[in-house]
Amino acid sequence: MHFGLTEEQQMMQDAARNFAEKEILPTLPEDEADHRFRPDLVKKMAELGFFGCALPEEHGGNGFGFVESVILAEQIAKVSGSWRLPFNMQNIGPAITVNKFGTEEQKRRFIPDWVSADSLGFFAMTEPNTGSDVASMGTTATDRGDHWELNGQKMWISNAHVGDWGLVYAFTDKSKKHKGMTCFIINLKANEGIATVPIETKLGLHCAPTGEIAFNGAKIPKDSVLGEVGMGFQICMWQLNNTRIGCAAGAIGIAGGAIAAAIGYANERTQFGKKIGAYQMVQAQIADMVAEHEAAKLLVYRAAWLKDQGLPNQHETSMAKLFASETAVHAASETMKIFGSYGYSTEYPAQRFLRDAHSLRVVEGTSNIQKIIIAGISLGDTANR
Ligand SMILES: Cc1cc2nc3c(=O)[nH]c(=O)nc-3n(C[C@H](O)[C@H](O)[C@H](O)COP(=O)(O)OP(=O)(O)OC[C@H]3O[C@@H](n4cnc5c(N)ncnc54)[C@H](O)[C@@H]3O)c2cc1C
Repeated sequence: MHFGLTEEQQMMQDAARNFAEKEILPTLPEDEADHRFRPDLVKKMAELGFFGCALPEEHGGNGFGFVESVILAEQIAKVSGSWRLPFNMQNIGPAITVNKFGTEEQKRRFIPDWVSADSLGFFAMTEPNTGSDVASMGTTATDRGDHWELNGQKMWISNAHVGDWGLVYAFTDKSKKHKGMTCFIINLKANEGIATVPIETKLGLHCAPTGEIAFNGAKIPKDSVLGEVGMGFQICMWQLNNTRIGCAAGAIGIAGGAIAAAIGYANERTQFGKKIGAYQMVQAQIADMVAEHEAAKLLVYRAAWLKDQGLPNQHETSMAKLFASETAVHAASETMKIFGSYGYSTEYPAQRFLRDAHSLRVVEGTSNIQKIIIAGISLGDTANR
């Protein structure tokens, strides 16, 4: 058992930390206030090789795996929860999924452009009436001989209105239930019958775009199917088990950022003639936050390591996602308390950590859904894959 980072991993950690501090942090207050998504930052991250993890070198892979992707995303999220989203959109979501299920032609055509951020990726399952119960989705894809026709609406889709190529899940045969769902690789900008609209009411993640997609008789080329017709549900579950680790990486990053802010403030703020960090109740808050954060990091890095070894990891990934996202919310909430009134001000970052952390309890399967997966595998009802 080995818990340290290699020299290369330390260099990646430093690169991500430097990037976050030099490129994201200086304009973050204005970017947050204006809800500004900056494709230039995604491109710069791509140029640093951040999106090539767990991919073959011939398609833009950087020779590293999930562990390194977690190292990078954690450092970015420590500064901003919004800016860890591109790891899922460019690398872990569409690219790794196409690498697993795509044809050689699809891999050559799509993966390098996601890795280089020439194409902004996305993946779309959720609909106005379909969230946790993915198999109840209403979007359909009908075979029209020379093309597929898509009808339906997707909701809460990261990158929806800025995205280029990405994955869309739809029913090709509703009567077959789970086995009637298919995954398509679709360009949101190049197809008639596709409209997107931003969701501008999000509580947090203000620099990460989220939107709706409407398919109204959209004509999709026949060769857009990923894997085989009817494999969509299987692909979707496989993809979610990976994007969950990106989310968990974001959670340990946000928790780390919140804890650093809380410690800084506890060492600086004086009340009753002493630094507030000298009071045992504040120390207990810090101790709980730090211990939970360390436990979360171990879970997240173990799940990522299992993925890199090609070992079963669904159980461990869901435990990591559940525990890390709850840890992030707790750490951010405690940080707000430690900051007192300043914690309640948008001029200080505590509230942003909390708003961003809450999203992690919901995305890639809510905390309840993670508990269902963890309990199902623990009880022997389903196998760990
Ligand atoms: C910022 C953001 C970005 C997102 N990005 C994407 C994206 O890129 N692509 C995408 O497809 N989706 C995306 N989503 C959607 C997200 O994945 C869904 O919101 C999530 O899966 C939950 O679905 P829901 O909101 O419909 O909640 P519901 O499924 O309606 O759940 C509501 C509540 O009921 C609980 N619940 C539901 N079923 C059960 C059950 N069987 N047992 C116990 N409790 C249950 C849930 O835990 C939750 O608390 C995003 C959401 C947000 C907020």
